[in-house]
Amino acid sequence: MAGQLPDNVWGNASMGEIRVFLGRCDAYEPDMILPILRRGLEAIGWDRPFTGRITVKPNGVMAHHVHARSCYTRPEFLRAVARLLRSAYPSEGAGSPGPGPQRPDVRLVEKCGVGQSTARVMLRAGWTVLRGEGMRLVAAEEAPKVKVRLTTGVVHQEVTVARDMVDRDLLVFTPKLKSNVLSHGMTAALKLNVGTLDDRERMYRHHYDLDDKIVDMLEIARPDLILTDAIEIGVGGNQMTEPGFSLGAVVVADNPLAHDMVTSQILGLDPLGIGHIKRAVQRGYGPAHPDEVTVVGDTTIAELRSKTAHLNLGFMRVDQFPSPIRVVSGTPYCTGGCQGVLLDWLHMLRDRKPEYMKRLKAFTIVVGEVEEDVGRPAVLIGDCAAKSPKLASRGLPCIRGCPPTHRSIILGLALTRFVVGPLIRPDLVFDSYFHRPLRLAWARRHGRPASWEDTRR
Ligand code: SF4
Repeated sequence: MAGQLPDNVWGNASMGEIRVFLGRCDAYEPDMILPILRRGLEAIGWDRPFTGRITVKPNGVMAHHVHARSCYTRPEFLRAVARLLRSAYPSEGAGSPGPGPQRPDVRLVEKCGVGQSTARVMLRAGWTVLRGEGMRLVAAEEAPKVKVRLTTGVVHQEVTVARDMVDRDLLVFTPKLKSNVLSHGMTAALKLNVGTLDDRERMYRHHYDLDDKIVDMLEIARPDLILTDAIEIGVGGNQMTEPGFSLGAVVVADNPLAHDMVTSQILGLDPLGIGHIKRAVQRGYGPAHPDEVTVVGDTTIAELRSKTAHLNLGFMRVDQFPSPIRVVSGTPYCTGGCQGVLLDWLHMLRDRKPEYMKRLKAFTIVVGEVEEDVGRPAVLIGDCAAKSPKLASRGLPCIRGCPPTHRSIILGLALTRFVVGPLIRPDLVFDSYFHRPLRLAWARRHGRPASWEDTRR
């Protein structure tokens, strides 16, 4: 049922073109968002019914009422998505459910940031209201798993994911548009895929191979539809703690690569300068160039870019970050690994504790393998730094990993240099070190193992 473009949709899209819809929306009101999503579907020529098993994958890397307020897909947006998917599109009115027997099984599946409890993040994000909209909430680490073999994987030959990610008739991504220093400045549809992996596999080769790792996941989790919350975007700092900025937009697309080519331009980034977009193009996920994407809707890339032009995305070399901490960066330079995770940590500190950061006592952090002696006090971050010939035998504190997780860097720098990061709080410590292990133990005991259950392909 493709369609007739609504009167207020500009553009000259024709059938067969890859279209991305940009809608205007200034408020987190489900009743306002729903008709915009509907118009978006018409504008891109969406013609599939919403039936069967529908998996919705949001962005829920973290949520916290003080420290992580703008990094997750908002519940109001997801309420509109739930109503869209549960209604008989397009004949029924906003919010009206379709007839009972045909209602799809809609489940929201997420795995939050490494070491945290997804169940707690769902609660903190306010997603529990979605049960009232007929959505099941699935915390991936507690759910039954399947191991899936990849035939085109460059980094992964097989991955373990929640069964609900692969047993589906339709996969809908609902990202939050954000800046992210670990992925060349942006998180949108393609990068959301990393959130389908469990902690161990998520960190596997999360270094200079991150771009291929992201693209690998398209083989099993290529979204059929992308509905993006860009009403308020997260921008300019750490991927969890960065502040929000009111962009006032909703994005609808059915091709994740085309989607990311458009959203990267909104943020002022060159789409083909972003590693994972470039690799997705090279690996044939098309379109090959942003010129092949037709933008339709009631706003434009140029108009949205005029709003973001003054924003600093925070994407820079880690050794150029201004702070009392001297960073010495060696080889390799891993945007998605040690250098990126450290840059993210520096942003985290500045996002939430700027005055505290200015008062820090000077010390040196080494990332990557370096040739020189850096003196003391110094902390080595990552396995490559630990191999530095003039530092390896100096007895310097070292936070190991390739790369180390955010959590180990936060803890390691707190223990070695007494730097108290903003995420060291009793409620978050409870979530990570008590709630999460208890939930996982409960899931194992009740037959929902945290390991895989069967193998696909
Ligand atoms: S240890 Fe760090 S710098 Fe070395 S390869 Fe791994 S992520 Fe990159």
